[in-house]
Amino acid sequence: MQARLGKVYLIGAGPGDPELLTLKAVRALAQVDVALVDDLVDRRVLEHAPDARVIAVGKRGGCKSTPQAFIERLMVRLATRGNIVARVKGGDPFVFGRGAEEAMAMARAGVPCEVIPGITAGTGVCAVLGVPLTHRGYTHGVTFVTGHTRSGAGPDWAALARAGTTLVIYMGMRRLPEIAGALMTAGMDASMPAAAVQHGTTQQQRHVIATLATLADSSRNAGLGSPALIVIGKVVGLADQVARIDAERRAVA
Ligand code: SAH
Repeated sequence: MQARLGKVYLIGAGPGDPELLTLKAVRALAQVDVALVDDLVDRRVLEHAPDARVIAVGKRGGCKSTPQAFIERLMVRLATRGNIVARVKGGDPFVFGRGAEEAMAMARAGVPCEVIPGITAGTGVCAVLGVPLTHRGYTHGVTFVTGHTRSGAGPDWAALARAGTTLVIYMGMRRLPEIAGALMTAGMDASMPAAAVQHGTTQQQRHVIATLATLADSSRNAGLGSPALIVIGKVVGLADQVARIDAERRAVA
């Protein structure tokens, strides 16, 4: 007899702090039979999935990893055997997370797939750091880019420098000296405030706030590595003020 078709929830687990999960994610996790979890996801998220068999499918840059095609085949196989499957990814599934590839693979295989958004590192980490990404007095927008592309060719840094929006760079730590150099060559001010944040929103968060010219050295001296986010723009210079307001509010509470 053919098993009843299951379903896949493509869940964004948020940037790190397990409390930054959505209620929708918590409700979905309570129903799942199997959870396929990325290694950036805090294992406490799985406390919401008490009945789930957990399969870790790490995919960190440069580390031993589970091939994407294997993960997609596993998701299809589990769902066609009647399982409710959670594919739990860091941040938001559709921001640099290959969630789109997985959703398309489910569509091709005829497997129902529901996407549950998550707070992406770019917004969540910056908010906690006190960086107001789009403060209207300083910028007219924010651009999310990756510092690491499949082809090896990076974004058009000169165009980004000219655009004048806050820049949030995912997966950029390894190429930070080159990226900063390219932005300065394109005319971005060497004194532009810039930050690097590792393990943002978690207990292990470490960050440095510097300038475009000094960020690479400061990050190296502080021993910051992946996973980290780089943020460049005038709004980074507000972190002190915003964080101070936040600290005062907490002191009053
Ligand atoms: N889908 C995820 C991004 C996956 S790409 C999201 O929406 O957030 C992985 C990259 O995200 C890391 O290399 C790093 O640049 C960034 N990142 C994810 N979590 C982070 C965190 N807690 N602190 C800093 N950067 C983080």
